[in-house]
Amino acid sequence: MPIYEYQAEDPAKSCPHCVGRFEYRHGMHDPPLTACPECGQPVGRVISTCRVDTRPSSKNQLSDKNLKRLGFSKLVNEGDGKFRKTV
Ligand SMILES: [Zn+2]
Repeated sequence: MPIYEYQAEDPAKSCPHCVGRFEYRHGMHDPPLTACPECGQPVGRVISTCRVDTRPSSKNQLSDKNLKRLGFSKLVNEGDGKFRKTV
């Protein structure tokens, strides 16, 4: 489940739990938290600044060629605890 960040709408009335940002985990389709679980004061969701990088170049980040270029090794699990090095 994703973690969302919330913050008290009125810091003057908030409790130590919600005066700063706090994380709250709930499902993507669940209604957002509207009150602090500790003190019941109204809270608002903090829109996270992180984003998913969907540029085409990131698609090939785990390609064999790119792994080799970056100095990583790729091991393929062949079963029975055996791994074969492919890069
Ligand atoms: Zn609170």
